[in-house]
Amino acid sequence: MKLRPTSILAITIPALLWLTFACSSVRSLHPAAAPTPYVILKLDDAWFENDLVHPGWTQVLDYLNAKNIVATIGIVGERMQDGSPDYYAWLQAQDARGHEVWNHGWCHCKPVVEGQEVREFLGTSYTHQLRSLQKTQALLLDKTGLRMTTFGAPYNAVDTNTARALAELPELTEWLYAPNNIVTTKARYPRIPALNLEQPVHVPNPDSLIAAWEQYQHEPLIVLQGHPRSWVADASRMEDFKRIIQFLEAKKVRFITPRQYRELMR
Ligand SMILES: [Zn+2]
Repeated sequence: MKLRPTSILAITIPALLWLTFACSSVRSLHPAAAPTPYVILKLDDAWFENDLVHPGWTQVLDYLNAKNIVATIGIVGERMQDGSPDYYAWLQAQDARGHEVWNHGWCHCKPVVEGQEVREFLGTSYTHQLRSLQKTQALLLDKTGLRMTTFGAPYNAVDTNTARALAELPELTEWLYAPNNIVTTKARYPRIPALNLEQPVHVPNPDSLIAAWEQYQHEPLIVLQGHPRSWVADASRMEDFKRIIQFLEAKKVRFITPRQYRELMR
């Protein structure tokens, strides 16, 4: 018997409908696994020294670029204001790869106010803090054309003047490690002290991160801080950083930048 085209449709459409129903029923019996966290690599202290991008930074970014993993680059204005064209071209190239350059203050210094050693964004005036933010924003724009949208303070040391100063810069919408006790309209990126790239500071520590992972693996967003300049002091440090990245890859985390995260959450 020869089937007419209309007969073929009459048989196949119900069959397809049944198959669709059957497949969705099977799926519902096996709910999708909980989503893996987004991870921001908060890398601090990029500046121009010895006429170079520091080898700690080039090694880390080359490694991440080979894996198509995005990170963030915290710059300090005063320490890169005399950078070479190659230095700025390197920052532009990282931006083009999807990494995010962010404002890590102007001096990264410890000023003395009324005889007391303070921090650039803790214990200094509103005006001082505002100028620091503005100078680094303006410098990067002038040298590279890049507009930063994220801030994170040196030493993560801030006070209420920081929130006031940040409020004057609407283009800075994201605040890395903003403390919960300071009122701000900026998007906060949380700090989990027990879960980090380094332990102690400057020393990548896979054992410490893996030990803390169990407890925090269901967080929606994890911000991991590190200092690539310190990771070439000893070859084992860079290897340990790579072990951490390999661990996170195995956990199928989703690497992201604050700017990308903001777009996602809109
Ligand atoms: Zn720093």
